Amino acid sequence: MSNIVFGPITSRRFGQSLGIDLSPLSKQCNFDCLYCELKGAKTVDKAKEAPSTQEILEALGEALHKHQNIDVITLTANGEPTLYPELGALVEGILKIKKEHKLLILSNGATISDPAIQEILSKLDIVKLSLDCVSPKCFKKLDRAHKGIEIAEIIEGMKRFRKRYSKELVIEILVVEGLNDTEEEFQALSAVLHDINPDRIDVGTIDRPPAYDVKGVSIERLIELANLLQGLHVNIAYKKNYIPQKRHFSKEEILELLKRRPQSFEDIALCFDEQSLENLQHLVDENVLHVKHIAGVDFYTTH
Ligand code: SF4
Repeated sequence: MSNIVFGPITSRRFGQSLGIDLSPLSKQCNFDCLYCELKGAKTVDKAKEAPSTQEILEALGEALHKHQNIDVITLTANGEPTLYPELGALVEGILKIKKEHKLLILSNGATISDPAIQEILSKLDIVKLSLDCVSPKCFKKLDRAHKGIEIAEIIEGMKRFRKRYSKELVIEILVVEGLNDTEEEFQALSAVLHDINPDRIDVGTIDRPPAYDVKGVSIERLIELANLLQGLHVNIAYKKNYIPQKRHFSKEEILELLKRRPQSFEDIALCFDEQSLENLQHLVDENVLHVKHIAGVDFYTTH
């Protein structure tokens, strides 16, 4: 099954990545999100069609031999990778052959309250989980989870996982117009995210044709919502063709801005004019601002 390992792909957020698809033949997911890039499908709580760990490890070994310039190996799926039945054995096998490469998983977070899943994920270098809403109403409408999956349990699971996991935890929020794009939802997300305490939060919106009839929000709205996540390291996923308006910031304004929320290099490069970039560099040289590297993304921060 040669379609198990794909890449390398250059990811703005994690560097050069080699992906492993744990469900290459069909979508197997415990969510059926309205915004999914894959066709809508009935939810499942186990992946029934899956390549063997041996097949995956052989394909990965070959790919690693061929592509030396890799930053991360990414566990992903046409669906939810933690539903892969032999995930524990697979992770052990990858750890033996991955050398200095980091191991990352992209999960919807639905299984994170399961202690067995936590035990497996705690061996990875980067764990990225989705959290689109806090309110059960929004969660039900947007993520359309398999029967029995509750958002409150997912959030508690994320908090428990963070307590035992000191490596890089990233949370992703995908914003959909008319669903989780309200100040109320983002205030609730902000409170919960402060409790979970992830290293980074990726905020994005729909950029490819979704499974159902929903729309993304404008980048301006995305920035307004991201600004409600005060004090957190938020990385905004800009659309490829976004042309922002460059603005001027004095040194004082830069400090105010970064006190409210650290900004990624990409945020700054897109929004600052030449003079503001110089002001920023002076603050870095004066040691008033610092650069923090979080799971492949650099941030300017005041602490
Ligand atoms: S969790 Fe991911 S794969 Fe599953 S339905 Fe949602 S977007 Fe699609």
